[in-house]
Amino acid sequence: MDFDKSYTMTINGAGVAGAGTYPVLNPATEEIIAQAPDCSAAQLDEAIAAARRAFPAWKATPIEQRQKLVLAIAGSFIEHATALGALLTREQGKPLAEARAEAMAPALWAQALAAMQLPVTVNEDSAELRSETHHVPLGVVGAISPWNFPVLLTMWKVLPALVAGNTVVLKPSPHTPLTVLKIGEMLRGVLPPGVLNVVTGGDELGPWMTAHEDIDKITFTGSTPTGKKVLQSAAGNLKRVTLELGGNDPAIVLPDVNVDEIAPRLFWSAFKNSGQVCIATKRMYVHKDIYDDVARALVAYARTVKVGNGADEGTQLGPVQNRPQYERVKNLIEDAHAHGLRFLAGGEVPVGPGYFLPISIVDNPPEDARVVSEEAFGPVLPLLRYDDIDEAVRRANDSPYGLGASVWSADTDRALSVAVRLECGNVWINDCQYLRPNAMFAGHKQSGIGVENGVEGLLEYTNPQTIVMRKSAAAR
Ligand code: NAD
Repeated sequence: MDFDKSYTMTINGAGVAGAGTYPVLNPATEEIIAQAPDCSAAQLDEAIAAARRAFPAWKATPIEQRQKLVLAIAGSFIEHATALGALLTREQGKPLAEARAEAMAPALWAQALAAMQLPVTVNEDSAELRSETHHVPLGVVGAISPWNFPVLLTMWKVLPALVAGNTVVLKPSPHTPLTVLKIGEMLRGVLPPGVLNVVTGGDELGPWMTAHEDIDKITFTGSTPTGKKVLQSAAGNLKRVTLELGGNDPAIVLPDVNVDEIAPRLFWSAFKNSGQVCIATKRMYVHKDIYDDVARALVAYARTVKVGNGADEGTQLGPVQNRPQYERVKNLIEDAHAHGLRFLAGGEVPVGPGYFLPISIVDNPPEDARVVSEEAFGPVLPLLRYDDIDEAVRRANDSPYGLGASVWSADTDRALSVAVRLECGNVWINDCQYLRPNAMFAGHKQSGIGVENGVEGLLEYTNPQTIVMRKSAAAR
């Protein structure tokens, strides 16, 4: 397989060119690296029809057999991790080591899903009657993914959908289509035709999918405003939906921490992937007694971090992934300047080429500053001073988002007493962004509906079905 050229969609197990093409850019250089297929409405219909035709046989395939194929998918990711990772760096911008780790990660998820059971609940069992609840597949799943982790977040959807017995039509972000197209190609030899279809295109393709009458579920990861549109559009045929949306995660740093020891971990909790992580620390609340020390340590660490082309040796942070996101983050920096906010690091905006923004840390801005209240999704962090823990918890919870949070303390019991007060789906203590395939991941409030990962995530790809059996009445 050649990861450097020939990008085709996968429809009914075959490579298909788009009705048109559109250019894909390397965000570090702004050079065009490939032309991606632009799927027409008729081609989307074909992909959905292929998934529909493949569904009855896939549903009837015993789950153990489906799981064997999911294990083969793990093998395919392990085999192609280096080439897929290099392509991910070219189209997404992240450093090579991180890209390769992302290209390997679906193998871990596939292995876990290959061992997961769909639970059967026995509700009642007597001499007369037995009642059981099973979980049956939904049908055709439409999966829509974002550009920050195009490989992993895509496979978070595909793998459980397949294990549960559904067929899939998958659409990546228009900004990062290439890796997902190659995943489709990788898996053509693994899965029966029509079980996994991959389509790419422009801004119309997602709405066509969410409105399509022959898709039974939409699993979506992206921004909260888009998630709301998806939910409205999916109402037409009452599609099931899972929405993994935006976040504005707080970190709360208690005064008892060893500042120098945790500074690098605090830094990476905010700046990994250039801040383009849904569960990145996006507001850092630091107790007043250690605020200056934390600020000093973060700035000192930031100076050691190499920002550059992800393909270059030693690069730790790449560019922002695309032009609209670059403009959005730049606008937040300009707004901070316009309101007289002080930058402890960064704050200047270099002229290209490449969508590079400096590591920027804002010194104790007011809570209503846009850089605090909005999800930056870029390398900009507001550092916020607090006086007492009740105030920190109140400010942390004062957000329409509820995705993740972290609490940092030398005393884990004390940290836990703070963690349980936070209104969000995932809280880390002295850690951040730790995710595993067997632990469910969910957003509260406007960060989402439903869950991914864990058995709970697998069940999102099923309908419950209760079967009540009266044991005697059928005999004549
Ligand atoms: P986005 O909402 O712009 O796009 C996400 C996907 O939706 C893309 O594939 C896009 O083409 C498609 N899309 C756009 N408009 C659509 C519509 N009207 N109907 C259907 N599909 C449509 O998000 P993005 O900019 O790609 O990603 C960044 C956002 O994703 C951030 O807010 C981030 O926090 C969030 N995110 C959340 C998670 C999570 O698990 N909660 C993970 C990663 C990213």
